[in-house]
Amino acid sequence: MNGPTGLLERAEQARLAGDYRDGCALARQAAELAAATGDDASQARALRSQATQLLRLGGQEESVTACRDAVALLETLGDDAAICDVLTVEAMALNELGLHEEALAALTRGRDIAHRLGDQDLLYWVHNRTGVVHSSMGDYALSTTYLLNALRMVAGMDAEAQFCVLNNLADNAIHQVARQRAAGDPAGAEDTLRAALGHVGEALELARTAGNPFRVAISLDNFGMLRALDGDLPAATRMIAEARRIAVAHGYDSIELGTLQHAARVQLLRGAGPEAIDLFQQSLAQAVATGETPMAMIIHQDLSETYESIGEYAAALKHYRLFHDLERTAHSDAAAVRARMAVHQFELDNARLEAELARIRSAELELATLSWQRQAGEDVLTGLPNRRHAEQRLPEMAAAGPLWLAFADIDHFKTVNDRYGHHSGDAVLSRIAGELLAGAQDTDLVARMGGEEFLIALPSAHAADAEARCEMLRTRIAALTWPDLDPALTITLSIGLAEVAPTGDLTEANLRADRNLYRAKRAGRNRVAS
Ligand code: GH3
Ligand code: MG
Ligand code: MG
Repeated sequence: MNGPTGLLERAEQARLAGDYRDGCALARQAAELAAATGDDASQARALRSQATQLLRLGGQEESVTACRDAVALLETLGDDAAICDVLTVEAMALNELGLHEEALAALTRGRDIAHRLGDQDLLYWVHNRTGVVHSSMGDYALSTTYLLNALRMVAGMDAEAQFCVLNNLADNAIHQVARQRAAGDPAGAEDTLRAALGHVGEALELARTAGNPFRVAISLDNFGMLRALDGDLPAATRMIAEARRIAVAHGYDSIELGTLQHAARVQLLRGAGPEAIDLFQQSLAQAVATGETPMAMIIHQDLSETYESIGEYAAALKHYRLFHDLERTAHSDAAAVRARMAVHQFELDNARLEAELARIRSAELELATLSWQRQAGEDVLTGLPNRRHAEQRLPEMAAAGPLWLAFADIDHFKTVNDRYGHHSGDAVLSRIAGELLAGAQDTDLVARMGGEEFLIALPSAHAADAEARCEMLRTRIAALTWPDLDPALTITLSIGLAEVAPTGDLTEANLRADRNLYRAKRAGRNRVAS
């Protein structure tokens, strides 16, 4: 398959195999193809796939943009579950850009959707990712709370979901153990470490079973660091080195960087200060080269503490200052990213607004056209079909079967106007129109042909039937009383009736009906002539 669906399938296969570069390119193609064919749902899915893989390749900002484009499409489709899913991806990208508040805002919106839909799977992803953001913000205890919540929900979900929460728990624990030890809580640290070793072991097993090298590398690295915190330094060194080899082989730059920093920390735990400093310096150079500012900040802190521990205060102070310089840079970087994203969001909102306006305009136009069409065929005073409408309908009615034309003209209507005024004349016309409509059959056509003249077209096979129905209409009108005008008033109709010949010649039938009406008038009015 070469359509967007086929490309997307291949993109997702690549993603699951950890082949993010290929997967990303395929997803991009799928998105472009879907956009070209106006297939919004496929385009949104492809953008989501692209966004997750960009995250692995360090394209965080582009990932956010792809997510926001996907959300805009999904909003027009009203697919809330998919919106929530994309928001959890967007939150990861925002988090890695250091935009923690924006990440939490995306997750809050996601949580509302998940709750409203009662969707446990979505809620799992929201909790999992909220845990990750709190960990990045340095609130490791709160992170653990969210991640354990997610862990309770993950039973029955796929291997990817299971892996993510277990590995995130392990990653968070690495920070938390150090924090708890520094705070003089060795028992708490021990509990955290035991639980985390269990989680990371499960994560590594899942990663190996899935054959996903990215997951193997990241969990192996975390496992190594936890082993180191547990005192098994040789095992730690081995695991971290293996994780590093996998990361280098697959181009997982951020994992490679993480393994360097962990290797340095293992040296530090061994008491090998100079070796640790050497590795920290290597990882710092790499963090700077790849623009990983948050990691560079962590390494400056590590270096500052390490130099301090060996009594090199000048060097310690230098890294302390560099850390703060970077912190300021990170703030202005975040501000710049925010500004760029605001521009993108503005463009999206604008596009959405314009689409909405275009939709409203075309709906209004349609409505206006409809009402114009309706008005064009409708008599304003009585609401009956007008002559124009009748002339359009009659050929169809004649073609459908035997048809009779009755021309009804109000008798001495001029006198009504003269006596009661034109306004009352209008009211009389309206009432008679309504009575004719009420007295006719559903299949009849009742139209106002002009002035005080009406047409009743009667589909009917028999002359006697057509005549009887005209007679019925005539007596109905004659029986009306007009208490508002004059209790003594009677208004009558003269009717000329003619059958449309089987040839369907309406002009000829018109002439005969007209002639018959004239006869009815001459014969004394208030009668039917045929
Ligand atoms: P006849 O019995 O011979 O048909 O006499 P008549 O007075 O009904 O015939 P005539 O054709 O001489 O007059 C028709 C009158 O209908 C003339 C006009 O003032 C009145 N009329 C036509 N259209 C309207 C209308 O829309 N409103 C009102 N109030 N009067 C109308
Ligand atoms: Mg007339
Ligand atoms: Mg008249």
